Amino acid sequence: MQIKLMLTSCLMASFFLSSCGYMLKPNKRKEVKEVSIGDPQAFELQDPDCDLGDDKPKFSKAVKIWMVDQANNLRQQSFDLSNVSRAGLESAAVSEALYSSEDVDSRSFFYAGKDRYLSKFKDHKALHALEQEHDNGIFKKISFCRPNGGYRAESIENAALAAFVAINEANKIHKGLTLGSDGKALNKIKLFVHPKLFARENDYVKEYHVDNAFWANFPSFQLIAVLPHSKEWEEARKLRFWETPGVFAHEYGHHIFHTYAPFAENPASEELYRINNGFNEGFADLVSYFSLSARRRLNPALMLSGESKSPNRDVTNSTISYMTMQGPIEYEKIYDSNIVSILGATETYLIDHVDSEGRFLQECHESGAIIAYVFNTLMNGYGYEKNPSKKMELLISWLVSLERQVILERHNGPQEHLEKSLRKMLTTLDHHGSKEGALELTPGKKKELIEELFPHYQRKWGNN
Ligand SMILES: [Zn+2]
Repeated sequence: MQIKLMLTSCLMASFFLSSCGYMLKPNKRKEVKEVSIGDPQAFELQDPDCDLGDDKPKFSKAVKIWMVDQANNLRQQSFDLSNVSRAGLESAAVSEALYSSEDVDSRSFFYAGKDRYLSKFKDHKALHALEQEHDNGIFKKISFCRPNGGYRAESIENAALAAFVAINEANKIHKGLTLGSDGKALNKIKLFVHPKLFARENDYVKEYHVDNAFWANFPSFQLIAVLPHSKEWEEARKLRFWETPGVFAHEYGHHIFHTYAPFAENPASEELYRINNGFNEGFADLVSYFSLSARRRLNPALMLSGESKSPNRDVTNSTISYMTMQGPIEYEKIYDSNIVSILGATETYLIDHVDSEGRFLQECHESGAIIAYVFNTLMNGYGYEKNPSKKMELLISWLVSLERQVILERHNGPQEHLEKSLRKMLTTLDHHGSKEGALELTPGKKKELIEELFPHYQRKWGNN
């Protein structure tokens, strides 16, 4: 997800699951009772005395780490981490890996969409404390004394390695793209592993940060943080959150989005922010999907709702379904009039709509799941099904034009912004198709795709 952090400068964080920034708006805070509850399963630092001193050898052999495969079996898998320093996991993607060396049970973690949160909560420890604490040395580097394996699945070392491997893969696919003048170098991120719980408690909100990971932007660096999962989550899904590589490749997808589209990430209006937040989540899901081999993608157990029986976050799944208080919900991931209206409507209408029918479309991961499915299906229709790198190039080309749109057309309303942004993907595909002699769609086939994926716009777009 993406939220505006409670900082004087504009910082952002993107979580993998649960809660969008709008939920934390001051006038809506009372509605958030418990965002995520659960008893955190703590990481353990397995080699507390691991001290490499001046000796900083590189891994030259495959390192075994624990990860969950697509069938949810926990298996020890080998990965080649050559050229990675044992002290801090430095690589082209990660500058260093750190863990919180203090008991963080009683510490707090805050974010908010409005500055006034700052004064309200400033006596508590806010996320900016990460930066300060890092500088003060409270976060320590993770070092590795057993490159050939032997770490327990629930160890800090294993969590860091598992996240690191997925981040490296997402970085690798980006590095291999042919982007021409659009191409940008990605900053290295810092990787944080938090062994215990982040909690926020006040009169209105009780929030435990478990079962999640996030990307965040600071003035001097970007980070991906690995949070613990809850015992309940593990029990229900029979897997550990941090052993699912799709999560961390997804977070790195936010890093790519931020690099190419900082204005789109943080547009002037709340309405555009909400729409682009969904774009950001969908983009990150697609980066994760294209970066990883099939068995290591977004795990089917990672869903929009714990009540769901189907892998609704999977970019190839055409429907969203889950249980709500009002009963089961199921709908197609397409831009029909209803979805367009919800996504582009005013926020008041949105909240009401959600309350009365239980649909949760304003939730950025849910609108993200729609964009991810629609764009992927569209690119398949244009003949790129077997070419994930090409799809990534097309997505980034789209992102670059989205950024331009946000800068040049900042006064667009939500409906106009949504339509133009979606239409840009078609333009991008048409442009690249003719430029590269790739599949040229017959007007009939293109019309079919528009009817299937964008029924709300078919009359308007169908004829050209
Ligand atoms: Zn996300």
